[in-house]
Amino acid sequence: MTSFVLHKQGDLELGIFPRLTRADLLHAFTGRQGGTSELVPGGLNMALHVGDNKEDVLSNRRKVADVLGFEPSRITTCQQVHGTKVSLVTEAMIGSGADDYAKSIQGVDALVTQLRQVPLMLFFADCVPVMFFDPVTKTIALAHAGWRGSVGDIALKTLHCMERNYKCQSANVLVGIGPSIGSCCFEVDQAVLDAAPGYVDCFRPTRPGHWQLDLWQVNKKQLLGAGVQEQNILCAECCTYEHKDKFFSYRAEDGKTGRMAAIIMLK
Ligand SMILES: [Zn+2]
Repeated sequence: MTSFVLHKQGDLELGIFPRLTRADLLHAFTGRQGGTSELVPGGLNMALHVGDNKEDVLSNRRKVADVLGFEPSRITTCQQVHGTKVSLVTEAMIGSGADDYAKSIQGVDALVTQLRQVPLMLFFADCVPVMFFDPVTKTIALAHAGWRGSVGDIALKTLHCMERNYKCQSANVLVGIGPSIGSCCFEVDQAVLDAAPGYVDCFRPTRPGHWQLDLWQVNKKQLLGAGVQEQNILCAECCTYEHKDKFFSYRAEDGKTGRMAAIIMLK
């Protein structure tokens, strides 16, 4: 089975992992086309914090919500500060950041919950979306892993949060690594290598003082080390830099672009 597929739904294109398709789980990665945006004309920019017209972003979110079947006012998101802090989502936090970035959950880059009908939503242009589902305890999580978050083990910390709070067992957990920049297009310098002593094997030398960094491998490695089963780690292996026609790429578009959303919700 192909681990990741893009589905056309009207003028939207949504990415999913067929193995995560279940009656009680909703998930998707939004594509680039089919939206309204001042920042990226025609683009389905889903993020409120990148200088786009707010009403356009909210209309894009409503459009996706209608297609997927969730209530947009319950979208729950966090600030995404390229850190490694993880937050549980409690009843009081439902809807954080749904229509105002300033109200998103502050200071964290990953969310964990067992609440139903709460779409966790984070925003990406090259950074790595990592989603988690434990079918045994019915726990979901979503993490934003740029290079700092990836080498800072945010995926592992998210898993630990699931284990600690909801008694999830890593051997049961399914992980989906969504579209993001591939090592093919992600050249980094000495400072990044120095910040990642545990992941030297995920760097491949290119020219003097530069390496290609495989962020997918960095995230897989920390999860495998914690007992997640290799066959339960699904990777889209879809490079956003190369596919900026389908997604958004911060690097390929000099930082001036929209954001795709990764969405996961227990029905
Ligand atoms: Zn690439």
